[in-house]
Amino acid sequence: MSSNFLNTPVEYLKNVGPQKADVLKKELHIFRYSDLLTFYPFRYVDRTKFYKVREITEDLPYVQLRGKIVSTKIVGVKRSQRFVATFADDTGKLELVWFQGAKWMVEKIKPHFTNEFIVFGKPSWFNGAFNISHPEIEPVSEENTTLASALQAVYNSTEKLKAKGLDTRGIARVQKTLNALIRNNIPETLSKDIMERFQMVSKEEALKQIHFPRNPEMLRKAEFRLKFEELFFIQLKLLKQKGTREKTYRGFAFSRVGDYFNSFYSKHLPFELTNAQKRVIKEIRLDMGSGKQMNRLLQGDVGSGKTLVALMSILIAMDNGFQACLMAPTEILANQHYETISGMLQPLDINIGLLTGSTKAKERRRIHEQLQNGEMHILIGTHALLEDVVQFKNIGLVVIDEQHRFGVAQRAKMWEKNTLSPHMLIMSATPIPRTLAMTLYGDLDISVIDELPPGRKAIQTVHRFDNHRDRVFGFMKEQIALGRQIYVVYPLIKESEKMDYKDLMDGYESIVRSFPLPQYNVSIVHGQMKADAKDYEMQRFVKGETNIMVATTVIEVGVNVPNASVMVIESAERFGLSQLHQLRGRVGRGAEQSYCILMTSFKLSSEGRLRMETMCRTNDGFEIADVDLKLRGPGDMAGTMQSGVLDLNIADLAKDAQILHSARNIAIELLSEDPNLEKPENSNIAYQLAISNATQTNWSRIS
Ligand code: ADP
Ligand code: MG
Repeated sequence: MSSNFLNTPVEYLKNVGPQKADVLKKELHIFRYSDLLTFYPFRYVDRTKFYKVREITEDLPYVQLRGKIVSTKIVGVKRSQRFVATFADDTGKLELVWFQGAKWMVEKIKPHFTNEFIVFGKPSWFNGAFNISHPEIEPVSEENTTLASALQAVYNSTEKLKAKGLDTRGIARVQKTLNALIRNNIPETLSKDIMERFQMVSKEEALKQIHFPRNPEMLRKAEFRLKFEELFFIQLKLLKQKGTREKTYRGFAFSRVGDYFNSFYSKHLPFELTNAQKRVIKEIRLDMGSGKQMNRLLQGDVGSGKTLVALMSILIAMDNGFQACLMAPTEILANQHYETISGMLQPLDINIGLLTGSTKAKERRRIHEQLQNGEMHILIGTHALLEDVVQFKNIGLVVIDEQHRFGVAQRAKMWEKNTLSPHMLIMSATPIPRTLAMTLYGDLDISVIDELPPGRKAIQTVHRFDNHRDRVFGFMKEQIALGRQIYVVYPLIKESEKMDYKDLMDGYESIVRSFPLPQYNVSIVHGQMKADAKDYEMQRFVKGETNIMVATTVIEVGVNVPNASVMVIESAERFGLSQLHQLRGRVGRGAEQSYCILMTSFKLSSEGRLRMETMCRTNDGFEIADVDLKLRGPGDMAGTMQSGVLDLNIADLAKDAQILHSARNIAIELLSEDPNLEKPENSNIAYQLAISNATQTNWSRIS
């Protein structure tokens, strides 16, 4: 049992010379045998199955065909030259296209002009017919019609790899050589107990079968084993970090609920709390009372009433003699929180400060002073709060709104603002599926508000094509006549900023033309405006002085204008689902029926269509997040969230929820029986965990 084998440099492998090794390193980060072994196939094809040309549909990822090449030609000149072969079987024809190596293909295909070929590749729909570009093709022979295994691995490759003979086949050949060397030289990483409980195959067997499955059943076992292992070690690590933190970092025990909370609750609460709000407040109260430092993620859809939960948590801190702060990612949001919270707390004698980038020096000094001498109870603001000059007399709770806009390191700064670290409540309005939350925030406790306040009218969402803009404008005029306000949002995506900017300005001009003064007033806000100009326009809209707000996604986060009841999203196909959902959440905040209109061009990809359909079908952020996860995969979805843990190699959070749950439960159980992994039967696990800890950043102190 030695892992020397796994650590062997890949160039030692027979038939992998320095050149191949070099491109494997550069393109795939494959340095050692272990990297090659864990370069898993991305799919398998059943090479015993042959399709007919007639059977091809757009959703078939790969097809294998058998037939003849009836003609070939070279099209185009020089750089744009392509080699096109017309392939036919007894049901139809299609074109095979090579954009590179035209000359070479002429040689390869010609001699077999009358023979049968096996063609394998990914069909795509182009100019009203199917074609396959860069298929694998070879003459029918004894060897390729009697394959030993039906399941053949397909590996990702790149142009540079292919140039060195490492297309999917070439990689398979290298894997085959490596596989032949596996013989009791791959250490087991899980315990006997876990393997028995799930009837798992050994690590060694799994690594063999994943590349060369004997049959579908063995492939399934290999996949399960490797996915479980991947998720298990992530969970184990997160849970261990959480355990360490809880032991190491004591927190202030908020033992009482007192006058502030009680009198607000009984006398000044503007409405009955939803059951979800009550439950979540209770979770927070218990956590803050435990003597451990709270690190809690509060998830709730837009409009679910997170602010009130934050406010009541702050009151608990105050009842225990502590100060609290609330940090938001933008000035607009910070202002809004300040107004909401000051408004609600008006009847109570509480000193609240607002600190942002535009706070004047004199006011700033007053705030700093009052925070230090304890006269100020609550501070609301932007990242200005993080500055070292902001010192509290006794801060006990930090609430962070719209969490994903703040970096991990920034948040860590808040930990240092008192002798013990204050409790942390992190609010996120981006619903994420549970599987993703468990992996991204597996070391946090999670509270979910899964219920909207009563009496909300569900936002009606429709999808309209660009050529119906006149009718949409007509509808907008009707709504304005009823006294409502309207957002019109344009995408602004970095790479093509100039073009987007032009779209925005063209759109703005067309709206100004169709909604002329003095009857209509139109505001515009975008990222290239100065902060005060932005704020001025925003305020005009908030006050109801303008009817229409034309904007880029600047308005995405948290703005609250209850009278705005229509959200028109231009080029909606260019937004991701979660962004569409966030934007839609800007309306539906008042008593009136609200609408969201998704404008797209007529040509939509199937994925784009699914996004529009999903938006029209449901208002449920969690359901939307699930679809989003399936469409985009977790890496993309996490976006700006710190995502090291999401570089999953084989598990798929969209599909493997069940395995994730098992892995987490087993990890919890294991740590409760053997917290330091000292028992001999867990030595494999301890060893593997140490290896993976050594290679990754430790975020354990940071929420
Ligand atoms: P978010 O979770 O998006 O931050 P907010 O806290 O801004 O949501 O709340 C959205 C709106 O719902 C606010 O206008 C708030 O006053 C209102 N609201 C919050 N809780 C309740 C409740 N229990 N009943 C009725 N309205 C509520
Ligand atoms: Mg909010």
